[in-house]
Amino acid sequence: MVKNIKTDVLIIGAGPAGLTAALYVARAGKKALVLEGRNPSRMAIGYEIENYPGFLSINSQELLNKFLEQARHHGAEILKEDALALALEAQPKYVTTRSAFIEARAVIIATGKPFSKERMIPGEEELTGRGVSYCATCDGPLYRGREVLAYGLSEEAMDEVLELDQMGCKVKLVTGRKVKPEHEPELEKLRARGITVLANYELKAIVGEKRVEKVVVEKDGQQEEIPVSAVFVFREIPSTSLFTKAGLQLDQKQCLLVDRNQKTNLEGVYAAGDVTCGSLQVASAVGEGCVAAMQALAYLRK
Ligand SMILES: Cc1cc2nc3c(=O)[nH]c(=O)nc-3n(C[C@H](O)[C@H](O)[C@H](O)COP(=O)(O)OP(=O)(O)OC[C@H]3O[C@@H](n4cnc5c(N)ncnc54)[C@H](O)[C@@H]3O)c2cc1C
Repeated sequence: MVKNIKTDVLIIGAGPAGLTAALYVARAGKKALVLEGRNPSRMAIGYEIENYPGFLSINSQELLNKFLEQARHHGAEILKEDALALALEAQPKYVTTRSAFIEARAVIIATGKPFSKERMIPGEEELTGRGVSYCATCDGPLYRGREVLAYGLSEEAMDEVLELDQMGCKVKLVTGRKVKPEHEPELEKLRARGITVLANYELKAIVGEKRVEKVVVEKDGQQEEIPVSAVFVFREIPSTSLFTKAGLQLDQKQCLLVDRNQKTNLEGVYAAGDVTCGSLQVASAVGEGCVAAMQALAYLRK
C-alpha cells in the first residue's frame, strides 16, 4: 500500500548536508522529512576525521550518528527509502519512493557524490520505464507470470526479490558482486523458493528495441543471453538521470548546478553537499545544508 505523506520540506539524503538541513528546518518548527537511500552516506565508511571543527579526531560513523540524533531530537523524520521519481517544476513538489507518494512545499537535494551515467549498465538508461525498474512494489505487478531479472546483493535486494516472487513474477537473481559466506543464508532462502540465483554473475547489458527483451550476463569471461520482460536494479539509483528527467540543470561535471544560495534552476528546490561537487568535505556539506535550509524556510514564508 502506497502512503500519501505531506511535508513542508523534503530532504533527499541523510548525510551531513541533508541532516544539517533537517535540523534547521525542524528546529524552525516546520515539518522536515528526510529520505535515506539504499547506499549509505560516505561517512558510514567509518574513517577517522581530523578536520571537522570541535573534534581533534572522531570516527565518521560516530559523527554521522550524532548528526542523525540531533536532527531527530528536533523533530525531523527519517524514511529509509530512495527517491525514485521527482516532479519538481510546479508547486507543490511530488516525490515517489517504494512505499510513499510525498507532497512537499520545498525540496532539498543532498544525495552525495553523483552516480554518473558511466557507471550505468549499457541499456539501463534508454530502457528505464520500459522494463527497467528500481522498485518491486511499484512495477512488479506489471510482470506477474513473466520472466524478470533482479540485480543486486544487498539486504533490500533480497527482500525485493522475495516480493517479486510473491507477486507471481518468475525471478532470476544476478548478484553482481562476489557472494561472501555471510550472504549465503539469504540466498538459500531464495533458492528454497525456487528462485534461480546466478551467484558471481555480472550484468553486462540490458537489450531491447522498444522494451526490455533480454539481458547479457557474464561469469568467468563467459557471456550468455537470458530473455526477460523486465530488469529490477537494486543498487544505487543513478542520480544524474533522475535529476535531468526532473528538469534540473547539471554543470560540466554532471553535478547539480546551484548559485551561492544553494538554489537550483527550479524554484523551491535547493541542493547541498557533494551532489554539487563543491569542496567534497563534511564541513562544507554541513555549511551548504544550513544555507539550503535557511533559503527553503525563506521560500516557505513567501
Ligand atoms: C574514505 C573517505 C574519507 C573521507 N575523509 C574525509 C575527511 O577526512 N574529511 C572530510 O571533511 N571529508 C571526508 N570525506 C568526504 C565526506 O565523507 C563527504 O564529503 C560527505 O560525506 C558528503 O556529505 P553529503 O551529505 O553531501 O553526502 P553523503 O554523506 O554521501 O550522503 C548522501 C546521502 O544521500 C542518500 N541518497 C543518495 N541517493 C538517494 C536517493 N535517490 N534517494 C534518497 N536518498 C539518497 C544516501 O543514502 C545518503 O544518506 C571522505 C570520504 C571518503 C569516502
